[in-house]
Amino acid sequence: MLKGIGASQGYGIGKAVIISDISTDYSNVKYTDAEAEKSRLQAAVDTFINETNELAESLKTNAGSKESEILEGHIAMLRDPFMLSQMQESIDSGIVAEKAVDTVCNMFIDIFSAADDELTRQRVSDIRDIKDSLLKTLLGAEGVDISSVEENSVLIAKDFTPSMTSKINKKNVNAIVTEVGGVTSHSAILARAMGIPAVLSVIDATEKIKNGEAVIADGFNGNIILNPNEEQIAEYNKKQSEYIGEKENLKAYMGKESITQSGIKKAVYANIGRPEDIQNVIQNSAEGIGLFRTEFLFMDRNTEPTEEEQFEAYSTVAKAMNNKEVIIRTLDIGGDKDIPYLKIEKEENPFLGHRAIRYCLDNPLLFKSQIKAILRAAVYGNIKMMLPLITALDEVRKAKELIEECKTDLKNAGTNYADTPVGIMIETPAAVMISDILAKEVDFFSIGTNDLTGYIMAVDRGNAKVCSLYDTLQTPVLRAIETTIKNAKANGIPVGMCGEAAADTALIPSLVKWGLDEFSVSPGNILLTRKTICNCP
Ligand code: PEP
Ligand code: MG
Repeated sequence: MLKGIGASQGYGIGKAVIISDISTDYSNVKYTDAEAEKSRLQAAVDTFINETNELAESLKTNAGSKESEILEGHIAMLRDPFMLSQMQESIDSGIVAEKAVDTVCNMFIDIFSAADDELTRQRVSDIRDIKDSLLKTLLGAEGVDISSVEENSVLIAKDFTPSMTSKINKKNVNAIVTEVGGVTSHSAILARAMGIPAVLSVIDATEKIKNGEAVIADGFNGNIILNPNEEQIAEYNKKQSEYIGEKENLKAYMGKESITQSGIKKAVYANIGRPEDIQNVIQNSAEGIGLFRTEFLFMDRNTEPTEEEQFEAYSTVAKAMNNKEVIIRTLDIGGDKDIPYLKIEKEENPFLGHRAIRYCLDNPLLFKSQIKAILRAAVYGNIKMMLPLITALDEVRKAKELIEECKTDLKNAGTNYADTPVGIMIETPAAVMISDILAKEVDFFSIGTNDLTGYIMAVDRGNAKVCSLYDTLQTPVLRAIETTIKNAKANGIPVGMCGEAAADTALIPSLVKWGLDEFSVSPGNILLTRKTICNCP
């Protein structure tokens, strides 16, 4: 048995499909003659265009026109006679098709990276994608096509990027397993948003699990059973059907209010990472968005999203939620959330380092472009702004000054915007200790138990020797939660929780008793959270 972190609930029983990194090393390819190399190149280009066309078509129906436009852009670039003729000329100078592709694409990457305007710089990731695909086709290095794996597959990879995840066909994939990541990593959040069981941080999973091997992935406790016997398969089939039965029963809570037995109304909100998650949120009848993790908009690309792109994303969510509350958290990077192009320096202790609000306050241009996008989007719905990882009053005051500056800039430019309430995450022991003071400065609190538990218990949950101490139900963490709620209430501001513990059925009765107003959970946990609240006295 292998052990990892159960990061998305459910049981996945099926055949392992290993998604390994594919080598694009062409050092052993021999040059024959220019004509032969050119026709290999042309064949690879034709294959690329055909496959990309097909993918764009299917994306149009499955995801949306935005995603398919990106792929259509790839085709247009490769159809550009200049790019292809450069590659052909390189071949004439006596090099193999692979090297011609590599050299010409790298030349474009260098030119585009140095461009002044952001749109051109963003083309760099497109050229990288094109280069990679052409090299793989030329080398015949077929990777696993994630979109067309057989039914009952369990996908095993080092990690899943959002673009890999977007290719997953839910009908055929019973679970995903990765070598890195935790409950709050992007692969976990995406898996939960899609309702696929996931076990993450399974050391050397891609080597220890064989392609085609039967596996059971337990998304609750993180166990991976290899080559299960009949008894184990029967046990897990039973667990799976019970789990599905429970989920069916929960549908009775769809569209209902979250009211305790004594008639106290609570709010069950959802956590999202991308506008695409909204569908799942609405399907599960969330009463609002309690946490929009905006860092996902910054991932899987080579440059930061523009103010315009962010405005588009935030206003789309605000409109889709139809005047229900949407709490947008400003950029929370660092710690385990690296965004390479932001060039955050390597640190000895990244969780105690230059992350989240600390990074944003030191990079006001980036921060202000996000704040402006949020203020502009607020015209289209019921948006609140939330600051992550607060440890000091001064950070809140500085952020509020920047927000005021943004409003003045927008006003002077004649741009439409709306004021938003400003709240903070309580996810450090420091913020808990001064929560009485902070409550006088902000409009709301949201308790981030994912980080708070780690900081209070002084435990690195990725370290197997100590991770058993990472437990939100430990008394010190419970006291911190109770104190925060008490101080919010005493100062008349609403208090929610957007860490994973908000969906913990063992904790919910205490949270209700202490007076927590809003529970923000993964879309798949909305109904169980509502049911638990409705059963509270
Ligand atoms: C938290 O720390 O509880 C939280 C919700 O933020 P994140 O998981 O994104 O760090
Ligand atoms: Mg956090």
